[in-house]
Amino acid sequence: MEGRILAANWKMNPPTKEEALKLAAEMEGLLEGLPLTKLLFPPFVYLPLLKLRGIELGAQDVFYEEKGAFTGEVSPLMLKSVGATWVIVGHSERRNVIGETDEIVRRKAEAALKAGLRVIYCVGEKLPDREAGRHLQVVEEQLSYVPVSENVVVAYEPVWAIGTGRNATPEQIEEMHAFIKAKVGLKVLYGGSVKERNARELAAVPNVDGFLVGGASLRPREFRKIGEALAE
Ligand code: PEP
Repeated sequence: MEGRILAANWKMNPPTKEEALKLAAEMEGLLEGLPLTKLLFPPFVYLPLLKLRGIELGAQDVFYEEKGAFTGEVSPLMLKSVGATWVIVGHSERRNVIGETDEIVRRKAEAALKAGLRVIYCVGEKLPDREAGRHLQVVEEQLSYVPVSENVVVAYEPVWAIGTGRNATPEQIEEMHAFIKAKVGLKVLYGGSVKERNARELAAVPNVDGFLVGGASLRPREFRKIGEALAE
């Protein structure tokens, strides 16, 4: 892995394959030359269509079984066979919208590692936990499920900062990243409303090994600026 990590999570966007190809080509051109490990997590269906110079591909989720009667699910080997080298597990939208538990997330991470994929393992507290001062406790519990491997990177994504335009403060990030590093000793990305306007300030926080970016990764010029801040 070269340098810090810049990861784009497109979530369930864009709406068509034509738009996905166009967006990916723009991103490929704009990110060229940045001394970072660059990752793109498009929706599953676009994975086999994309082959990008200098950008590794990953899936936004994966199932924990290898094959069989699991309608609608996608296995680690299937992802590998269409070009993915990474997966995200435990994104808060999967934990909170789909209802995934820590145990399910752990199983997914282990299955992905077994297949030779690298993993971004997401953790993060909800707003009431932060307000009650329970954020370290909540994340500590989530971390107890993380398989410690050189192929795992943790993403700290406070749920109240994702897609809200409200990022965690440098102090909050510094505290949590130091805590995570002390517990599991892995690289830690920050995610939660990283934008062009805050990238420089957040990239300067100690123990930030990169960013996981949602909304702004759909705007290639802004995404390039975020990459520049990380590469400085
Ligand atoms: C994400 O989806 O992981 C994320 C951090 O989203 P956003 O950048 O839009 O807050």
